[in-house]
Amino acid sequence: MLKKIEEALAAYCRRTGRAFERPEVVMFDMDGILFDSMPLHCVAWKNVCDEYGIQASRDEFYATEGRTGASTIDMLCRRQFGRAATEEEVKEIYARKCELFKQLGEPPLIAGARDVIDAVLAGGSVCVLVTGSGQRSVLDRLDREYPGAFAPEMRVTAFDVKRGKPDPEPYLIGMEKGGAQPWTAIGIDNAPLGVESSSKSGAFTIGVRTGPLEEGSLLASGADIEINSMTECAKIVSQLLLI
Ligand code: MG
Repeated sequence: MLKKIEEALAAYCRRTGRAFERPEVVMFDMDGILFDSMPLHCVAWKNVCDEYGIQASRDEFYATEGRTGASTIDMLCRRQFGRAATEEEVKEIYARKCELFKQLGEPPLIAGARDVIDAVLAGGSVCVLVTGSGQRSVLDRLDREYPGAFAPEMRVTAFDVKRGKPDPEPYLIGMEKGGAQPWTAIGIDNAPLGVESSSKSGAFTIGVRTGPLEEGSLLASGADIEINSMTECAKIVSQLLLI
């Protein structure tokens, strides 16, 4: 086994107080893990902010990635207007953001993501989706682009959670759906808030830097191992399935 993985497993054991066992469930974030959609999301968020008179920079949305749309809109309203977002604002702004996102075209797939899924399925384990997204246009593409990977009952989306990432709730629901304990579950996420959520859930957490994050930022958010691509992730997951 690669030294990097051995070290990560030792760190996991220190962090959680028990050894990681063969993974029964592998949980995938969606944006930035399955689809290279973050650049488009950032443009859509910036554009909707411009329309509603909210000051924001395009890149700041990489930092809020993983939050539900409602939580992001509430944060923006508090910052700009000094008050919480109303329910109507959340509905309207999120619907408009989704519309603007859709107009930007379909995001490409992340290279290597299918290899990770295939490794999981070949190992007899289960793939679970754990996303903060409620973007129907992307969720509806899952069956087309990743056929056979995520059964309908194995999906956690913005519609299933109360608190959302960085709270551990979404990943805890994910392992419950897959019937796994934290020490038999892997979480794969590209965003600091998503990594924090997975790490707090007790899952072995792989942080994949597919966006413009500084090296080490996912380790700092609680990842047990930080890598640069889903191609590398496929090798690591294959090794972990041999435990
Ligand atoms: Mg993501």
